[in-house]
Amino acid sequence: MKQKLPIYEHFFTWQGEGIHQGRSAYFIRTFGCPVQCPWCDSAGTWHPNYIPNSIEKISPEVLVELALKKKPSILVVTGGEPAIHDLSELTELCHKKRLPIHIETSGAFPIRGTFDWVTLSPKVWKRPIKESMHLADELKIIVDSENSIEDWLSSNPEILQCKTIWLHPEWTQRNNPLILDSITDTIKQYGDPFRAGYQLHKLFSVDQKDPGSKPNIPIGGNPSLGY
Ligand code: SF4
Repeated sequence: MKQKLPIYEHFFTWQGEGIHQGRSAYFIRTFGCPVQCPWCDSAGTWHPNYIPNSIEKISPEVLVELALKKKPSILVVTGGEPAIHDLSELTELCHKKRLPIHIETSGAFPIRGTFDWVTLSPKVWKRPIKESMHLADELKIIVDSENSIEDWLSSNPEILQCKTIWLHPEWTQRNNPLILDSITDTIKQYGDPFRAGYQLHKLFSVDQKDPGSKPNIPIGGNPSLGY
């Protein structure tokens, strides 16, 4: 039987974060995530209060066909946590069609499939496994308190081996001067590999403008709604 992947949403937009920021991108958001961040901005993929009544299952062939129709520069697989699914067939098809395929993952699960770009966004409560850390082309640390960066550096100094480490304010904290200053201070203190990051697509509401995108369901930095 042919593989089908549980898909929460898929839409044509541009990449709002990281080194590939601003490139046209077809996004595939898989369903399911055991990481359960209290500030998740994709709660519809896993939170019992927000999951849809039914989840579409789509074959890798159909997903690639849908993406190719839009002629994107890249295809980005995100979630949820995409690495809980076997994405080998999807990546093989993309390679055959010469469509670069990227993944955004917490790194807590082995990545199945060969990706052209790996963005790893580690979480302290579900730490990344070594093999995924080695595959990361860039790290994205979500800064949700003024101590977040220091906590990462003291508990995981090996992250400094990554070529690029983005420091993103958690979206509900994007105007918090303590958080923003902690990012600035880190960049001024260390320089590379740190970079200040931002979720530019949210300012443009660009994802929401594609009919394939579902309304945003952010938990909104409320720990009582997380786990
Ligand atoms: S932010 Fe990402 S890793 Fe965290 S719960 Fe949401 S989908 Fe999972």
